[in-house]
Amino acid sequence: MMQNTKKKMSFTVKILLYMIIGLLVGVLINTYAAESNFIQYYLVGGFFHIIGSMFLQALKMLVVPLVFCSLIGGIVGMNDMKMLGRTSGKAFALFLFTTIIAISFGLFFAISLGIGKGFNLANANMTSHYTTGKAPAFVDVIIGFMPSNIPGALANANMLQIIMACIFIGLAIMKSGKSGKKVAASIESFNEVMMALVHIIMSLAPYGVFCLMAKTFAEQGIGMVVPIISYFLTVAAALTLHFVGTFSGLFLVARLNPLTFIRKMRSTIMFAFSTSSSNATIPVSIETAETRLGVHNSIASFVIPLGATINMNGTAIMQGVATVFIANAYGITLSGLDYVTVIGMSVLASVGTAGVPGVGIVTLAMVFTQVGLPVEGIALILGVDRLIDMMRTVVNVTGDVATTCVVAKTEGKMDMAVYKDPSAGIAI
Ligand code: ASP
Repeated sequence: MMQNTKKKMSFTVKILLYMIIGLLVGVLINTYAAESNFIQYYLVGGFFHIIGSMFLQALKMLVVPLVFCSLIGGIVGMNDMKMLGRTSGKAFALFLFTTIIAISFGLFFAISLGIGKGFNLANANMTSHYTTGKAPAFVDVIIGFMPSNIPGALANANMLQIIMACIFIGLAIMKSGKSGKKVAASIESFNEVMMALVHIIMSLAPYGVFCLMAKTFAEQGIGMVVPIISYFLTVAAALTLHFVGTFSGLFLVARLNPLTFIRKMRSTIMFAFSTSSSNATIPVSIETAETRLGVHNSIASFVIPLGATINMNGTAIMQGVATVFIANAYGITLSGLDYVTVIGMSVLASVGTAGVPGVGIVTLAMVFTQVGLPVEGIALILGVDRLIDMMRTVVNVTGDVATTCVVAKTEGKMDMAVYKDPSAGIAI
């Protein structure tokens, strides 16, 4: 057991080390080699880009088959419609509750600090313009939950449609007697194979993470933060408070030790940070929830993919802060009703949009339009969004796994021996 702990520690430390080295290499390139065609073309745009993107692709490759098999297995394993109803009810309620708290934190911090007031953009001609694609209408989002074509949903990695299809297939398997059992057994075996594939891809993580970090920081540097430091620090502070305060509060209510949770989430957090994608992190989140935190597969396989799609606590925080920042920068006064609209829109915007890099800034345009803020104001915060995206994705993913743990604990579907065992789980 001792050796296993050491191995796990060293792997987590290895990823962290590669992440930091990647960040430093990126910043150095940005500072000293921004003009070097060779480095920019062959190293940043070539090697780092190719290896980093291939690693991301490999992670994404796991998501659909893993969610499909593990969710059907989970639903068949639940063997109880009432439990499925309760689990979704609790998960939805917790996602909603934490998102509302998150955006309120964002608004509260930004309003109390009065960020954005010195910008005076009301009469300024913005030199850069931000335009965005149209956000989908709410009715279409609801209708879109139902797949019209299962292979199509799988091919497009449409998470909500996949979840819906899995629920129906799971129910049908339960109703199909002997044949159903055969199908369930095959899906179970395929799931095991997929888990082995997760481990193979994970073993390449340090190199993938290094390249992703090096490329991002070589392109962005960290100097981009300076002009809008007040915005950046406010988002960072609200994210930290939510991460520590809200999630610890949830864990204490559910009688779980929050420190154990955070310790076991380390590698998942690093994946979320370096990929900026809740969706791409799904395989790691499921693995961590099941093998490290002791959550039963029937809950983890359902709540995590659902959360990756509809729960975005970190994104909601950014949207709250951004709304106040841009309103102040343009000298626009928002009413109490406007703030309520911002909260409602931000919650709705996260439902139906997948957890992929940069989606939060697209849905922010939807929030702005609703309260009459100039969408082109988004150009002002775009420069730091890459870095903020990495940070908010950590909070998004942590929120998904935290909710999963709380739902599992209250459903009696959590193995506390595994939760408490520091060496439980695989070495990722
Ligand atoms: N990148 C975030 C995520 O995957 C979404 C966002 O852009 O806020 O969770």
